[in-house]
Amino acid sequence: MSKDSTTASERDFTKGVPLEDIADEGILTGQVGDESVLLVRKGEALFAVGATCTHYGGPLADGLVVGETIRCPWHHAAFCLRTGQVEHAPALDGLKCWRVEQSGGRVFVREAQLAAPSAKAGHAKAKAPESVAIIGGGAAANAAAMTLRREGYEGPITLWSADASPPYDRPNLSKDYLAGTADPAWLPLRSPEFYAEQRIDVRCGQQVVTLDPANQEITLSGGTREHYGALLMATGAKPIRLAVPGAQLPHVMVLRSLADCDALIARLATVQRCVVVGAGFIGLEAAAALRTRGAQVHVVMRGAHPMERVLGPALGDMLKKLHESHGVVFHAGADVSEITANSVKLSSGDELPAELVVAGIGVDPEVALAQQAGLAIDRGVVVDEYLQTSAPHVYAAGDIARWPDVHTGTRIRVEHWVVAERQGAVAARNILGQQRRFDAVPFFWTQHYDIAVNYVGHAEGWDRVDIDGDPDVHACAATYWRGNKRLAVATVGRDLENLRAEAAFEAQT
Ligand code: NAP
Repeated sequence: MSKDSTTASERDFTKGVPLEDIADEGILTGQVGDESVLLVRKGEALFAVGATCTHYGGPLADGLVVGETIRCPWHHAAFCLRTGQVEHAPALDGLKCWRVEQSGGRVFVREAQLAAPSAKAGHAKAKAPESVAIIGGGAAANAAAMTLRREGYEGPITLWSADASPPYDRPNLSKDYLAGTADPAWLPLRSPEFYAEQRIDVRCGQQVVTLDPANQEITLSGGTREHYGALLMATGAKPIRLAVPGAQLPHVMVLRSLADCDALIARLATVQRCVVVGAGFIGLEAAAALRTRGAQVHVVMRGAHPMERVLGPALGDMLKKLHESHGVVFHAGADVSEITANSVKLSSGDELPAELVVAGIGVDPEVALAQQAGLAIDRGVVVDEYLQTSAPHVYAAGDIARWPDVHTGTRIRVEHWVVAERQGAVAARNILGQQRRFDAVPFFWTQHYDIAVNYVGHAEGWDRVDIDGDPDVHACAATYWRGNKRLAVATVGRDLENLRAEAAFEAQT
């Protein structure tokens, strides 16, 4: 903490600040011209970097210094303090850096530094495949393509995506975009110009129907064959559909793609009464977004609390009360038995009026292509710690990949955006021969109105949940244990604590 009482906006780093005002691993905020800058001390080293996370604009001054990285409190993006480069997703762009100088016991921030050279191009060339094919157009696919270029890969990169739209910010679909509070321009992860400049050939609306690992070839639905040097499967997941009478009616919708979300938004222009089936991520985030648009929302869930399987009853109850305070009506312990043009019938006999039904009842990993190719499958595509599948030159990342997780000591498959991005980046490095183990600690956030839950770790089951703080005032931490092993930590209103938990999990490996 600074002894200085000057406010951040008054503190002009070009005029210098006393060295003693910056504690080791401390963060001091000030200005360089009209830019907000952080001064960070790490032992003898001092760093000056931009103060705002390049992902969603999170305040890095409220984040955590871990090694020579600074981490964002909102969604755990990490940046190298020395170069500003992205160390961990979900940020896509690095931070600006400035040169720091010490003189007479004061620290001065001088001129901005040029971006660090992106890569060891020679190294990339030495082990690089002649071309890289990426199958998929989501988080893992986009991160892999960007990482290949960032690491100096110069060969052809083709991204074959079944989605009609180039890679977009899927987490936003069930949050601000559905709520109508996001500028549509926020959605694309990168512009068409970016992909063109980077020579990343993005082919949308393309279905890869066969993969022949022996001949290093894929076939598209039109019959065209393409050779590849290395291949990343990042085919993601598809929504599970309701299987009750009426489930095929046009007002029964899912929310997975941008097209799904746009179709939902279009329907909302003319309807008021919505039933959401399932109280997981999609169900609850969509419920919040629909309420924000002023629609009536009833949620049908099988269990007693929303998101109970992931968060446990205490945080599930917190979310239930939060949603109820915004006017959502829950039907617990209920199953849908039939859907008609204007109602949803429940197994209890209740009938809910509905002109729109949103099914958020989970997803299945898209493993058909991997199965056809004869890859090892075990409730997902089996990969090793380097994200390589059972076939040479073929890697897998994101929702489909089941990997040996060093933290739990088991093989796990995780369906979170940040995990997919981090896996895409690691797979890309391994395609270039870097032999990087995937050992990131899984992280997700979920947003409901103005309340976010941050979760780090992985707990498919637990025997104890410790709650510190008060869920009812949205300030608490839940720690999930099996025996004396801490598996995961979920926090509400305690972002720094969640970052500390992530660092502690990392340190255990
Ligand atoms: P989910 O989180 O797995 O939740 C599915 C919910 O539907 C569960 O509560 C489940 O109950 C319930 N369910 C399953 N079958 C049902 C049925 N026939 N009738 C009624 N309820 C049923 O899946 P999701 O919400 O559909 O999300 C899909 C994917 O998007 C997931 O991979 C998720 O990780 C991802 N996503 C993530 C975020 C985020 O990280 N913030 C946001 C949106 C989406 P039980 O638990 O009792 O089985």
